[in-house]
Amino acid sequence: MTIENFRILDNHFHLRLDGLYLDAVKVFKKAGGDIINLVNLPDYTIPPSQYYEQIYDRTLRMAAFVRENSHIKVMVTLGPYPLDYFYFKNSSIDPVKKMIDGITILEKYARDNIICAIGEIGRPHFDVDTLVKEESNQILFRGLQLAADNKIPAILHTEDLDVNALSELHSMGIRAGITPHMIIKHHATVSNLSSESDLSMSILATRPNLRGSIETGKSFLLETDYVDDPSKPGKVIAPDSVPRRALMIRGEYANYEKIMSDVFLSLPSRIYGKDLFEM
Ligand SMILES: [Zn+2]
Repeated sequence: MTIENFRILDNHFHLRLDGLYLDAVKVFKKAGGDIINLVNLPDYTIPPSQYYEQIYDRTLRMAAFVRENSHIKVMVTLGPYPLDYFYFKNSSIDPVKKMIDGITILEKYARDNIICAIGEIGRPHFDVDTLVKEESNQILFRGLQLAADNKIPAILHTEDLDVNALSELHSMGIRAGITPHMIIKHHATVSNLSSESDLSMSILATRPNLRGSIETGKSFLLETDYVDDPSKPGKVIAPDSVPRRALMIRGEYANYEKIMSDVFLSLPSRIYGKDLFEM
């Protein structure tokens, strides 16, 4: 199913084997969704030694299972989550080396087009000391380089970004060789979108965010950041929020075709290639 001949993409979606899992995807599908970008979730019950091998492998197996058992297209984003830093540090393992190794593993997946992006990479979303921030930036830089070398986007998990931080990340991207629009700020705010930044913004698909984002006149992606955790009901927005917002665009905006074309065709095609998005 599609809405108004657009393929409806949720740009940031997590699944858990012990969550709603396939049922969450079915809820998304039923509301009109077509494509999820499945991002690995941390799991600190996995021992540090084979951590990334196991996390990546699990995510790829979940993607294959969803493809086989639903009519949803699944894009996969893999990468070291910024808070993994503390997990390794607390296990007396050098987080920088471990997480950069976790990025290096991705080279083969990027080359073979198994992943559509590296992410979510970046730095903790809360205040951290200078060392943690510097080391996180070092890891992030390596991730941006991998993205640049393989012409895939990098999806950022960071603190809320002000204008200075946006331009800092822009410069970091230029140094790493990545085009600014291939850096996607996950959990971007409407004010990020109205800034002058050339980074791509992925906006949490709430009603106020959608209205605010449309008012800026800019292009953006929509995401739920669905975490599929039954122990945290209400902490996240529902897995069908993106198709519901697509219906809201169609129902409330006279120029809905232009908006839907920006959100679900032009910008995703520019970032990920047009194959999945063109009808
Ligand atoms: Zn996430």
